[in-house]
Order: sequence, then structure tokens, then C-alpha cells
Amino acid sequence: MNVIKEWAKSAGGHAISLAYGGGFVFEKNHKPLLFIGGVHGDEPEGVELATRFLQYLEHSSEKTSPWILIPCLNPDGYMKVERTNGNGVDLNRNYPAKNWSPDCDAPRYFPGTKAASEPEIQALTALIEAERPRLILHFHSWKPCIVCSGEKGRLDAQRLARASNYEIVSDIGYPTPGSLSSFANKDHDIPVICIEEEAGVALAEVWPRFQPALIEILNDTSMRDK
Ligand SMILES: [Zn+2]
Repeated sequence: MNVIKEWAKSAGGHAISLAYGGGFVFEKNHKPLLFIGGVHGDEPEGVELATRFLQYLEHSSEKTSPWILIPCLNPDGYMKVERTNGNGVDLNRNYPAKNWSPDCDAPRYFPGTKAASEPEIQALTALIEAERPRLILHFHSWKPCIVCSGEKGRLDAQRLARASNYEIVSDIGYPTPGSLSSFANKDHDIPVICIEEEAGVALAEVWPRFQPALIEILNDTSMRDK
């Protein structure tokens, strides 16, 4: 496993780290899995899941699928327990998706002054375009569910649903212009799964709930996007 301690800088000037490992060494054409925690700073369940998964990955074999993991995309918000980043932007509305819109219903969904205005999203979209992950998983908390965007992610969503007993849904029930699923799945045909853990659940419950499914996804090296 390799760690880049300052892969990117947040709007507020905080370091964002990134780790990677798995089968990179063996197969250069094997597209990575991309895991992202801490998109919304007031959802500690997602940071917990990403951090515990990273601890597991420290000791995992290089024969797994290649993977990239960002434990906390939004350190500004995480430190202040706020949804948005240091510029008050909802990072999951700031992607340069075709459907990005300057409109929003409430300040917590502020999409930024323009698409990809935020350094966190500039760094992440450049990474996605360069690596073309076979699957992106991001970890949130709200009402418990597994949001599956793109049929190519269906099998993995079923694994997560089986492990957690959470229902698979195809969207969150309201429009999310400029979101990761709009950018990566609708515009770039990369499947995206959003794990919505139950908000406020005991943090100790989070990793055990998803561990079996995440390891199954990691170890399934047959799932290649050629
Ligand atoms: Zn969220």
C-alpha cells in the first residue's frame, strides 16, 4: 500500500490524503476501484467506514483488485462538522456534470459559483478521468440504503445490500445535479454506488456491517472493465 499524504488541498488549505494498492504491480490494464469517504463533513459514518477499510487494506494482498481510497475528501467540513467545504460548497453538487446547475433549495446544497469551482472536485475529477475506475463507491449517512447508479454496479450493490440488509435504490428520491453519479455514471458510464449508512448509528457498527461485502468486491478480480 502507498499513501500520498497531501494528494490535494482543500478550499480551507487542509491536506487531503490518498492511498492506493492492490494489483497495480501485476496488471497495468486492470482498472481500479475508487473508494471515497468524508464527502459531507457532518457524516462521520462515512469517514469511519473509509478509515477502517484502509486499516484492513494495509494488510491486504497485492492480488486483490487495484484500489484507490480517499479517507476524507472534505477535511474542512469534517473538522467543523458541517456538510459543505471551506467555501460553503456542497461537494456533491459541484462536479462538472452536464446537469450541473447554479440553483439550489437551501445553503447546505450550494453547488458553487460554477461547476468544478472547488479544489477538492478539480483533483477528484482529474483522478477519475485519468484512472477510469471500474466502480466508484462513496460513503455517506442519511436514511439507510444503497444507491446504485449504473447497471454495471448492480452485482456489487447486491453484495452490499446482502451484507447490510439495506435496500437498493436507483436514486435518492430528489434531483442531484452536479453530483458524483451525474458526472461519473451519466456522463462517463462509470458505475457509482453510494452507501448511505444510518445517520447517527454507533460508529463501531459501521465497518462490521459492510466489511464482508467490501472485501468480496475487492477480491473479485474477474470484474474488469476492458
Ligand atoms: Zn452525504
